[in-house]
Amino acid sequence: MTNNPPLKNESLPDAHGYFGDFGGRFVPDTLMAPLLELEKAYDELYGRPEFWREYESLLKHFIGRETPLQHAARLSAHLGGAKIYLKREDLAHTGAHKINNAIGQILLARHMGKTRIIAETGAGQHGVATATAAAAFGMRCVVYMGAEDMARQAPNVYRMRLLGAEVVAVNNGSRTLKDAVSEAMRDWVGNIADTHYLLGSALGPHPYPRMVRDFQAIIGREARAQVMEAEGRLPDSIVACVGGGSNAIGIFSGFVDDENIKLIGVEAGGRQIAPGEHAARFAGGSPGIFQGMKTFILQDENGQAEPTHSVSAGLDYTGVGPEHAYLHALRRAEYTHVNDDEAVAAFHLLSRMEGIIPALESSHAVAHACKIAKGLGEKHLMIVNLSGRGDKDIGIIQKYEEEKA
Ligand SMILES: *Cc1c(COP(=O)(O)O)cnc(C)c1O
Repeated sequence: MTNNPPLKNESLPDAHGYFGDFGGRFVPDTLMAPLLELEKAYDELYGRPEFWREYESLLKHFIGRETPLQHAARLSAHLGGAKIYLKREDLAHTGAHKINNAIGQILLARHMGKTRIIAETGAGQHGVATATAAAAFGMRCVVYMGAEDMARQAPNVYRMRLLGAEVVAVNNGSRTLKDAVSEAMRDWVGNIADTHYLLGSALGPHPYPRMVRDFQAIIGREARAQVMEAEGRLPDSIVACVGGGSNAIGIFSGFVDDENIKLIGVEAGGRQIAPGEHAARFAGGSPGIFQGMKTFILQDENGQAEPTHSVSAGLDYTGVGPEHAYLHALRRAEYTHVNDDEAVAAFHLLSRMEGIIPALESSHAVAHACKIAKGLGEKHLMIVNLSGRGDKDIGIIQKYEEEKA
């Protein structure tokens, strides 16, 4: 709908992949070659309007963009304060924003002559988006997934297999997402010639944080044009959940240069802010190096990654994307957290108030909006990024409530 890129914040990261003090490329030598090849290919395509035209055509015809910006009239009235709009990423093909990035990277992979796609997945959402994009381009697809996660997320494993992907169980470490990332990197090193590693969020070594942001920036560009059309002005605040940080950085990027627009990232507060009980990196973490980047991570005094917990699988990760660490350091964005109970309550509230069952990840953003809406007053215009739909979470909600009862 709008010209792609450039973004106003495109000047970052710098040539070494840094957003201020954060980001970079902390990888073994064996990973340097494929990362440099990727960076070079992306730099080439970045300047080509025909690349972005093809990307936008796929977003329109395959993914169903643009996604609506909907006034949540009943929710706003119920809360009695800010006028709340929802950016409906839940209506994108496969039910979340992740497909925007998967499509962008598939085009890049094809440009590089790669025929095999690998990916990591935690809850399976990124695996499904990747398997979908790979199927649509006739590429082989291998998805690494922790054995623990495969058991918890069986329907998504089945979905990936239906789409023709091979799902490989990872039995190392905690048998969850971070172990799947390590396995995917190992595969990549051994298969550089024909394989592209399609990473799922705005994190990891340079150039992924930049590239994934650029592919998710469509959310912010659309939202900006849509709110201007609906309200004749820019919003006062943007609220988005932050796992790795891709849906949040995607929508933030459309507004980051307007200093008076408040950007609020919502992390997973889990059960409580105590080691192993949450995934709020800015509340309980500190700067460190993790999976190729320097950023805020949850670590013990020896620098070992701490276990994490969230009712929402997509927010349950040790490190946050480095551009968020940068926005945090600048105080350009504010980071907060809501706990499991609050997210589940927001899940129910939005379902009943608006007829939209949100993803548990997105429910964190909704929960924070609910907390602050009243105090902001009726003149306040807020956009909440509804990153995905909640069908995938119905079983988790059911179990959560049985355990509470
Ligand atoms: C994966 C996921 C997230 C978290 O990932 P980000 O990179 O932080 O956006 C959020 N919402 C949904 C629906 C997801 O599937």
